[in-house]
Amino acid sequence: MNFQKYLLNQPYIQNILHKKVNNEIGSGYLFSCQDAVTLDEVLTTCAKIILCKNSTVDNCPTCQKIQCGSHPDVCVYPKKDSFSTEDSQGVIDDANKKAILGEYKIIIIKNLDNSSEQSQNKLLKILETPPKNCIFLISTTNINKVLPTVRSRLLKVEVTPFDEKTLCEIFDSFKNIEDFSLAVEYSNGYVGEMQKILTDADFIKTYNIAKDIVISLKSSANIVNYLMPKITKSQFSNIITLLQSMYMDIAYVKIGKTEIVKNKSLLQHFLQISDEFSLKAIVEIVKRINEINKKQYSNVTQALLFESLLTSILEVKYLCK
Ligand SMILES: [Zn+2]
Repeated sequence: MNFQKYLLNQPYIQNILHKKVNNEIGSGYLFSCQDAVTLDEVLTTCAKIILCKNSTVDNCPTCQKIQCGSHPDVCVYPKKDSFSTEDSQGVIDDANKKAILGEYKIIIIKNLDNSSEQSQNKLLKILETPPKNCIFLISTTNINKVLPTVRSRLLKVEVTPFDEKTLCEIFDSFKNIEDFSLAVEYSNGYVGEMQKILTDADFIKTYNIAKDIVISLKSSANIVNYLMPKITKSQFSNIITLLQSMYMDIAYVKIGKTEIVKNKSLLQHFLQISDEFSLKAIVEIVKRINEINKKQYSNVTQALLFESLLTSILEVKYLCK
């Protein structure tokens, strides 16, 4: 999925383009958002912006080399799954070598949150005294897992999501898929999330289960229709997330804030459900879902947890009728 041309219109990228034109590129950047796929593309795009001789990213030999990972002045880390102390040493060695083809050496580090404190501390040394003409482009899906000392050495860039219209354009060739609009609703504007939902048959399955629990689960007699003896960890956690979001929506409807409802396609159902329950009951259901969510990490099996989730929701539904 190539969405670089859409990134170039994003304000944070425009800002870096602007900095290049004015010769004001900093020595280190930390890009953050929840989506690793978007971040990877942002890092590649920024490397091109800095090294390309032309005013914007194009198809010149430099940009092409960066795209296929063969530019000698662009070093990409981690070398394996997570950023190790060996990687930190590699970064230090690479950063101290002179650029071969152009003016700048670029060190890319993906998902720095996935690393130990030790390797980050080692990296800190080179960030504190960056060699001349060496630029660090670092990404994280969880900024809180990057040491404050490391963070303070870098310029922070928040990678904002695409708006709905742009996301639909990027995924134009998928627009005839039945669950396209549902995927747009749930991807929060991030390309990686969208890809995940479109290719994950489980998501649609769990979405329908969660929807049924909210709309049709009415008595303990029909609980057997919902039980999933072979429910997997990821299905269970999908259902929990979806239920949380749906009941939050019902609460929003209840207090008249329909404009912030996330599951827009279920709005008609939510209006009806919000008539049947008090706000207190809805809040109680959300509370119980959260409690069961915490138990996910205990030794109870998913199937049993799922059953107690259903019973618990039903109990509130029954008590508050
Ligand atoms: Zn170029």
